[in-house]
Amino acid sequence: MTSSTPESSSGSSSGSTQGSAADSTTTGVDIVLENIVKKYPGQKSPAVTDLSLTIPAGEMVMFVGPSGCGKTTSLKMINRLIEPTSGTITIGGKDITRSNPTELRRQIGYVIQGGGLLPHMTVKQNIGIVPGLLGWDKKKIAARTDELLDLVGLDPDVYRDRYPRELSGGQQQRVGVARGLAADPPVILMDEPFGAVDPITRTRLQDELMSIQSELRKTIVIVTHDIDEAVKLGDRILVLDVGAEIAQYDTPDAILSAPANDYVADFVGAGSKLKQLTLLRVDDAELEQPETCHVGDDVAEVIARVSAAGKDSVLILDARERPREFLWLRTLRKWSKVPDFDPENSPIVDHRATLNDAMDQMLESSHAAVIVTNRGRFTGLVTFDAVTELLRSSTQAAHEAAGSSAAADGTVIGTPTASTGEVTGDE
Ligand code: ADP
Ligand code: MG
Repeated sequence: MTSSTPESSSGSSSGSTQGSAADSTTTGVDIVLENIVKKYPGQKSPAVTDLSLTIPAGEMVMFVGPSGCGKTTSLKMINRLIEPTSGTITIGGKDITRSNPTELRRQIGYVIQGGGLLPHMTVKQNIGIVPGLLGWDKKKIAARTDELLDLVGLDPDVYRDRYPRELSGGQQQRVGVARGLAADPPVILMDEPFGAVDPITRTRLQDELMSIQSELRKTIVIVTHDIDEAVKLGDRILVLDVGAEIAQYDTPDAILSAPANDYVADFVGAGSKLKQLTLLRVDDAELEQPETCHVGDDVAEVIARVSAAGKDSVLILDARERPREFLWLRTLRKWSKVPDFDPENSPIVDHRATLNDAMDQMLESSHAAVIVTNRGRFTGLVTFDAVTELLRSSTQAAHEAAGSSAAADGTVIGTPTASTGEVTGDE
């Protein structure tokens, strides 16, 4: 029998942003699997051999493992899209085999790759499906839809009446996440939710999810084949072998620094010491405060103020404090009122993004700094220098702790030549 109950990580946790999820704000509930077996008809060996597992309330737990090892099967048994052959599953102490499967699914958010939106329904209708089934009145559903669109970073006025075909892949995925959250379920299951979107969008969606989770503290189970995603998002990672046998169930820190066996070590990859860098967050770095102005401001006044502060560039924010564009003053001179810009090409990361994400954005955009947001609102700039400084101090610490020579010194990350600490504006 494979059995695992997460233990509180003992001492080895560097994780300023990991762990200790279950606190007073937790809205999730425990999920407990006991001796779960799933044998599909005609299958020689079961897809799930004997799985026992506790997923603590308010945590984000990542299921990883090779294709066909039983991740999806295990996940779908939690909302009874698949019925176990034997064993029990309780959610918040209640045996789910005794509840009506349809009722059960209304209490569990479910997000799949691509969003799984119904093509003939608008964004608003897609998000409102479960609340509608639960009998919410129209006004409440409309208010909830707008709130959720905001939460996942889509402007309600622009997107609520669109059809899925009028959205990009990343936007559809955002709506899929909003739909999963719609009825405020204590449990959310996600099967490779960000597998179908490009890397930059994936990073943004991951960041949004972390921000949402830091506020809502639901119990979230995510299947992924991406170990970096698991390390970034997970409070705990469940590494599975064939037959959904547990290879290790632990914090990202512990799995990277002390893999239970060769299988886990191979799975997380040879560079696991370096991957610990993905445990460092933008939050851990020193943020700089640039001069800012707002869309619609008088350009002459902005230039006078920013020049007086000894700066030659300014960050433009919209009325909701969301970053739009970083500009040289000499470029801004072209206008009399500060214009609006599409922020799509600006390097922006959430405050909980990893340093690797921030560096990726710098390399991608050839800027030596990245704009940091919290729930979409501007909070500061993280510069290349601040990142390298933090990497230096923490890899040194990790190096000393591990007593190994595998520490990274700029080699993993790449080294942009410009490190002026200034964001270069639109020339
Ligand atoms: P994963 O999500 O880890 O890739 P799955 O849970 O989808 O794995 O599949 C586990 C095993 O069960 C695989 O061998 C797969 O072929 C098999 N399997 C999955 N779904 C079915 C099904 N509906 N009928 C028969 N076998 C299935
Ligand atoms: Mg799968």
